[in-house]
Amino acid sequence: MTFAELTTYFEKMEETSSRLSLIEILSDLFKQAHKDEIEKIVYLSQGRVAPFYAPIEIGMADKNVAAALGFACGEEKEKVLQLYNKLGDMGLAAKQLSEKFKVKSSKLSIKEVFDTLTEIAHTGGEGSVDKKQKLLAELLKQCDSTAAKHLVRIPLGNNRLGIGDPTILDGLATAKLGDKSNRKQLEKAYNETSDLGLIAQTLWEGGLEAVKKLQVHVGRPIRSELCERLPNPVKVIEKMVDEKNPGVHVTPKYDGFRVQIHKNGDKVEMFSRNLEDMTHMFPDLIEGVRKQVKVKSVILDSEALAYQPESEEFLPFQETTKRRRKHNIEEVSKSLPLRAFVFDILYYDGKSLLDTPLLERLEYIKKAIHGDEVLIPAPGKVLHKASEVQTMLEDSISKGLEGVVVKRTDSAYQAGGRNFNWVKLKRHAAGELHDTIDCVILGYIIGKGKRTAFGAGALLVGVYDEKNDEFVSVSKIGTGLTDIEWQEIHKRADKIKVEHKPARVNSLIIPSVWVRPEIVIEVLADEITRSPLHTAGMSQNEKTAAKEDKVEERPTGYALRFPRLVSFRDRDKKPEDATSVKELIEMYNEQEKK
Ligand code: ATP
Repeated sequence: MTFAELTTYFEKMEETSSRLSLIEILSDLFKQAHKDEIEKIVYLSQGRVAPFYAPIEIGMADKNVAAALGFACGEEKEKVLQLYNKLGDMGLAAKQLSEKFKVKSSKLSIKEVFDTLTEIAHTGGEGSVDKKQKLLAELLKQCDSTAAKHLVRIPLGNNRLGIGDPTILDGLATAKLGDKSNRKQLEKAYNETSDLGLIAQTLWEGGLEAVKKLQVHVGRPIRSELCERLPNPVKVIEKMVDEKNPGVHVTPKYDGFRVQIHKNGDKVEMFSRNLEDMTHMFPDLIEGVRKQVKVKSVILDSEALAYQPESEEFLPFQETTKRRRKHNIEEVSKSLPLRAFVFDILYYDGKSLLDTPLLERLEYIKKAIHGDEVLIPAPGKVLHKASEVQTMLEDSISKGLEGVVVKRTDSAYQAGGRNFNWVKLKRHAAGELHDTIDCVILGYIIGKGKRTAFGAGALLVGVYDEKNDEFVSVSKIGTGLTDIEWQEIHKRADKIKVEHKPARVNSLIIPSVWVRPEIVIEVLADEITRSPLHTAGMSQNEKTAAKEDKVEERPTGYALRFPRLVSFRDRDKKPEDATSVKELIEMYNEQEKK
């Protein structure tokens, strides 16, 4: 397939505002792919040349892409920038400029484009700006106008297609397995390898059997296991204790930064909760791993935060990252030592431990970690009674921690799972358990008065509907944001605003401006209520009925009452990591019981 052919599919994807047709287009595209090119097609569809976790960024600044476009089209860089400013999208500028050239049938192969973009990503040091521009310009000269439009967007990190990982999985399943019935197998491989390109290539080369054999690998992050919620220790014992699991394992819940630590010999890598490579962020932890872990290869799951063992003081996530961002990382590591509380181990000396029961895994932690200077095995106990869990919860809270995490002693590590194998119990607020909700910004509604200066009066936010891989609206948020935060939101949202509703968004409320669902914010609300205006929790039929305004069938979704912004969470959460509809409904049901 040529790159130009690939971009005709991108063009269709950009135009659609329906997720089902997005899957169809992807599936048509994948069906055309040869086994030598499927991996590259998958990465390029997400604007990448490597899986998300690999720190390979093609990244070029606007002005450098404009210069490359200028070289290719024989136009002054300044003129290109003017056009870009006028159109607001480098892709449109590239399309317009390259139309003059009339490259009718571009023969450029996917491999050539992929290899050159990879070379651009790896080009560094003196003279690299010029070299990157030339490489990109050489490609652009061989592009027709549609190919040029989509090509320039890639090094800008803004391919405007917004295809989430679950949608790619749907596309692969539909193209290769006929339907989605075997999608679960692909999903398992995805949870354990985090690499869609690898899965696609394996599927194309060896079929589903080969995908099932994909292994955990040091250096490839595993999707994190997450917690369900329960309101109190009594419920925890009721729900989690049974014959197979006579007691529960309880550890403190640290409010830090989740870090998955991979070690192979001397090589240490670290990944965040959303699978980004964070190795460079934690020089102090790397040192600690080298000193304390003697076994050749391990994967550890941990929560990192600043901790002073002498005073037993913990610094919460927000504060830890704020200080680290503000000051030089090296300097801060001295005054504010980071520690990692290791609560799980997923790989030990060449062997995956995902299927090993929790209590046995914890024994491996003891074998793997020597001492407790930087890596500290998280203290935990097997408890049998609600009163014991309550005491430990209170103890954690009194130490300034968030609460406790309770785990089934016999449970395997379920990569990417959120179920009752792990349950979080959090601190009480005004006598009630409370939790925040992570929402995704879907758009903004332009306000009147003072705030118009910043171009926003309210945000339309949504939660994630896992079943349908789409974002459904749950609230409008107008309060709790300072003018500075509005400016910040406006600055970020402007970069991702789109002309029509994105395909993976489902909302009855039409905001003044749609944005691609990318920014995750943490929201605190007084209550979850039922609402006919929001699509969160509506079935597909109900959403359609609501859109057609069939009043007699008017359904109700769920909404947030008195929502306010607590923090931005996009540093450690992808949009798909936002609170899910399932969780929202569970929280609503818990609240009703009270
Ligand atoms: P929240 O938004 O409530 O902070 P979250 O949505 O990021 O949580 P949850 O599944 O709700 O994720 O809570 C689990 C998180 O708690 C883990 O991702 C991890 O970062 C953190 N954590 C702290 N201590 C532990 C522990 N002992 N065991 C497991 N996870 C822990």
